[in-house]
Amino acid sequence: MVSAILLAIYFLSIGSHLLLWFVYVRQYRFASLIFDLLPFYPIFIFLYLIIQLVIFNPIGSSSNALLRLSGIVYYIIVMFQLVVFYNWARIYSIRNYELFLNDIRDHSNLRIMNWNEIDGDLSGNPELVTIIIRHDVDINPSRTKKMLELENSMNIDSCYFFRVKATTYKFDEILPLIENYRKSNEITFGFHYASVTNAGGSLEKAPSVFKQEVTEFREFYNIRFVAGHGDKNRNRRLITENLVNLEELNLVSAYDLYKTHYISEAGGLRKVSEQFGSTNINAQLNQIKHLDNGSVVQILIHPDWWFKHIWIR
Ligand SMILES: [Zn+2]
Repeated sequence: MVSAILLAIYFLSIGSHLLLWFVYVRQYRFASLIFDLLPFYPIFIFLYLIIQLVIFNPIGSSSNALLRLSGIVYYIIVMFQLVVFYNWARIYSIRNYELFLNDIRDHSNLRIMNWNEIDGDLSGNPELVTIIIRHDVDINPSRTKKMLELENSMNIDSCYFFRVKATTYKFDEILPLIENYRKSNEITFGFHYASVTNAGGSLEKAPSVFKQEVTEFREFYNIRFVAGHGDKNRNRRLITENLVNLEELNLVSAYDLYKTHYISEAGGLRKVSEQFGSTNINAQLNQIKHLDNGSVVQILIHPDWWFKHIWIR
């Protein structure tokens, strides 16, 4: 009887870990709640370890060799998760992002470009390092709100790209955000299109879906910039394969803006950048101040992945 209960606890704890990963991988709207829990993960995992230790006692003697082995395997998985989550929590903190923004301000040769000044033929000021900040919003507008508040309080110029149809949030939910900041001179809004996905993967239907979504967005905000959402449907094909004529629609693709350097944390903890090598996102951002004047750096930050750190620095 006791062993049945222990076994149930064991599978429940493994199940909850798998569930968290599933939610994260599928990027459901509450995936960003998991990120909110990140600073507490070491505590959760520590508790799991204690439970497992009580149940399996892998160091001591256990009657069932198979259970003992699975207990050891589970320890290894949990320890691995501990390292991964610790790293994530340490790197992706809004505090780190704020430090980076402060750093830019302290360097007189670094200048953040306002999106309203940008046009298709942007080229860098030879006297300065020009920085363009872009945000793609994939999961949950609430985390975006935190980043918007931070940037607004610091008068930082950036552009937030929102989706019109997303599985994780409704366009209606972002309207109050746009309304709130539409008069701000610093904040601009763009369209994070996933029109191939929204057309059920059909490249034939995607262009009309794209145009309809642009119209929908423009009923509320006159967008000028678009950026494709990266998923299995590779939405960017709409533009790279010339399926929509952006010029006709008076739109500019963020990817096509002139740049000498590109920094993105889209790879999560895979810290690889063509230009900045294998370093984490914070180290990459820090390297900006060592670039030659005349450089133009586009930075892509997903607000969903950044949280207010509580105790990890
Ligand atoms: Zn995206």
